Amino acid sequence: MMRSLLGSLVGVLLVVLLAVAGVSAQETVLIRGGRLLDGSGNPWIRADVLLRGDRVEAVGDLSGRSADRVVDANGLYVAPGFIDTHSHAGGGLATPGLSHARPLLAQGITTIFANPDGGGPTDLAEQRSELMADGLGVNVAQFVSHGGVRGEVLGTEDRAPSARELERMKALVRTGMEEGAWGLSSGTFYVPGAYSKPEEIEALATVVADFGGAYQSHYRDESTYTVGLIAAVDEVINVGRVAGIPAVLTHVKALGPFVWGYGAAIVSRVERAREEGVQVFADQYPYTASATGLEAALLPRWSQAGGRDSLLARMSRPSDMARIREGMVLGLERRGGADRIQFRRYEPDPSIEGRLLSDLAEERRQDPIETAADLIREGRVSIVSFNMSDADVETLMFQPWTMTSSDGDLVPWNEGVPHPRSYGAFPRKLRVYVREEAVIPLDHAVRSMTSLPAWVYGMPDRGALRPGAAADVVVFDLDKVRDAAQYTAPHQLAEGMVWVFVNGTAAVADGEFTGALSGRVLQKGR
Ligand SMILES: [Zn+2]
Repeated sequence: MMRSLLGSLVGVLLVVLLAVAGVSAQETVLIRGGRLLDGSGNPWIRADVLLRGDRVEAVGDLSGRSADRVVDANGLYVAPGFIDTHSHAGGGLATPGLSHARPLLAQGITTIFANPDGGGPTDLAEQRSELMADGLGVNVAQFVSHGGVRGEVLGTEDRAPSARELERMKALVRTGMEEGAWGLSSGTFYVPGAYSKPEEIEALATVVADFGGAYQSHYRDESTYTVGLIAAVDEVINVGRVAGIPAVLTHVKALGPFVWGYGAAIVSRVERAREEGVQVFADQYPYTASATGLEAALLPRWSQAGGRDSLLARMSRPSDMARIREGMVLGLERRGGADRIQFRRYEPDPSIEGRLLSDLAEERRQDPIETAADLIREGRVSIVSFNMSDADVETLMFQPWTMTSSDGDLVPWNEGVPHPRSYGAFPRKLRVYVREEAVIPLDHAVRSMTSLPAWVYGMPDRGALRPGAAADVVVFDLDKVRDAAQYTAPHQLAEGMVWVFVNGTAAVADGEFTGALSGRVLQKGR
């Protein structure tokens, strides 16, 4: 009697302890009968996948096995969760209304890399707790941002750092890497990154090398703005050469009619460097339009030194404004003209969002440059810019070293007219470039979204479906995968993802969001 009472007490205690320790989360899921793409680039094979807790336990013929939940994947593809290597969703994910990450989950994205383009905070620990505060629908990997680091030491000054300032910058990069960042991002096209010399970035990249990180850059010139496209590509390659780390040409492109056809030239620069032993890669979003700020697209960088007040002062001085105007005329030509610029977000007057600069100028009976200058004077103007050629997009996509990215934002429903990539980049690649145009095979596309980014950024347990790997899994219907978002109506969720598991928990179950917040901030080396 005494013994059995003790026994049941121990039993109850054990259950409580297991629950506290989270062992009760060791739910098993058996994904049965799907076409398995393991992320390696191998063609699909029919195989079952067993998840236990947050890990893949087994892959293969598991017909004898049972599980807490069985998913029938007959007629569907099963793949590792997609990894978005260039995402602006970090800010949105840190807000309570958007932490669910639904626009990302609908694309099959289970991990994003935040702080791209050299933008983002320097205190990554603080950012991590902001991201975790309301839970996370997807995993987040952080970059140390060059612009953040430079901004903290030099503000928006157009000069090189002193030796002492450079040491401070290196220390900030080191702290970020110690906090678990996966590498350094830069945006040498933007303020303040544009004010840095290549040597400054090379010095910071050598710190990243101590941690086995990588370097990702929105290169200095995607067109003919300053050093030219090819020299800008070479600059990124050289960082990889000097620091001995993977160097990534992020959202690789040839921007504007002056450089259309240069996709092949980028490929040959990368190939040559790789033959030489430099680890060069690229990522790309599958659209012929980019998105940026009207200021960044049109203004010469000297006019922005010192920040917005300095810019406005220069714009009000006729002699400076004449020079700024010259720069803007050239900038607009590089972008292919005013009918290739669509307004994305403009707080002073949301009624222009979604319209073309050419239309607005005509309505105002102005020269487009005048209209652009007026808008810039009154507030920040973000734009979608139709500036790439299909041939270049396809040439760059075809390369085995090109990953997939979205470069997307995560914004409140119906705020502004964002680039459709925010809602559709990954499904679009599958729909247009795999299914409709057959530019790349399915296994190649999935590899570019999974094992390749995991390989480049040193994430050994993601981007693959094999025993022991993290249980980030997507199950999709290739015939139904569709990016619904359009340029003029972008706020539309993608379709075709039937199941999405993030760390073993279903965030999408049978096509419905579950509300699960099972994402984590992934820290390198932890
Ligand atoms: Zn960028």
